Amino acid sequence: MKCKTLLIACALSTAAFSFSAMASSNSICDSTLARVCTDTQTQRSEMNARTLKLKNEIAAEANRNAAPRIDEMKKQISKFHFIKRAIQSYKIRNQEIMKSAKTRIGGIESVVTNPENIAKLKGYMQLAIDQSNFDAATKANFKAIESTVMIGNFGDFLERTNLDDDVMSQLLGNACGSDGMVENAFATTISGQRYVLICPGFLISMSQNASDKDRFSSILQAIAHEMGHHIDNSKVGNDLYKPYLSCLSTNYADKFNKSADDKKLCEKNPKDVDGCNLKVATTHAGELIADQWGIKVTAIHAKQENLSFGETEDMLVNSWAKLCGTGDEGIHPTGDFRIGTLMRVNPAIAGALACNNSAIVKPACTLDGAVNL
Ligand SMILES: [Zn+2]
Repeated sequence: MKCKTLLIACALSTAAFSFSAMASSNSICDSTLARVCTDTQTQRSEMNARTLKLKNEIAAEANRNAAPRIDEMKKQISKFHFIKRAIQSYKIRNQEIMKSAKTRIGGIESVVTNPENIAKLKGYMQLAIDQSNFDAATKANFKAIESTVMIGNFGDFLERTNLDDDVMSQLLGNACGSDGMVENAFATTISGQRYVLICPGFLISMSQNASDKDRFSSILQAIAHEMGHHIDNSKVGNDLYKPYLSCLSTNYADKFNKSADDKKLCEKNPKDVDGCNLKVATTHAGELIADQWGIKVTAIHAKQENLSFGETEDMLVNSWAKLCGTGDEGIHPTGDFRIGTLMRVNPAIAGALACNNSAIVKPACTLDGAVNL
């Protein structure tokens, strides 16, 4: 979402982190999790260490710059007003963290602030909707919604949410963390504006030395996933996504953990296995739907840009490696399921990689319903 400041350029120029860069004998087609997760393990832990180091540097600099300001503040506020002092100290420190973070990571957001990239991505999303089997009115509605989504950067987000001035918002509202370094991406609505933010902490874990083209490919899945949340079932209802949800509950319900609510319902009606399965799949639906939109967009990109098999595989490894080993808290399916099943067994992905699908037994679940590969 930004471009390179001097500090970032220096900090990252010593090593190129591209999860896909390592030579591997595994392939997404035949050994999906080995290729995406096992083979990228070293690179991922090195990147985590690097991100932590940067985060600590930001914190140290912020503490240094906050100290004289806090001393000054203490001259103004009596020590008997200790709560007021504590709040002011917190506020000053967070302002310094944000200032330091903005300077250091100012460069990495270019991939999502570049208007050409945004136009391309939004075009893919419109195409993905056009190519779906939804009825004309739904397509028109989805396209209208997506055309209004703003893909922002951290600085813009802070301004919109007024974080510089509102301590409570800083504490509660900022899913990127006050320094922006939480490895997160999310969809939200701020004062009526539909919004997608990929946190700097997420972008910084991408290869900074990769070409702009490769970085764009690597971020497509994440942004399209977040854009997909603006038209997921929580926004437009379960009915439109019924073919997808039925396929998931029939074929993959055992892959999902039950939330507390799901458990309650399933225990109350032990004989209604189908009802229980549908409930569990529906609780995960928002994420499963968002993933499908992301998958559609990456497949469209591979086709439109005539990516080679190798380039497509690299794009997918870079797109999904962040999810390796993530668990299912009752809402997000496990990384293993999202990578090994949702992505690998998707017809458009299997087609883009020209996979041999003879070992795949269960159908693929797509937004159009079940498809046998
Ligand atoms: Zn999501």
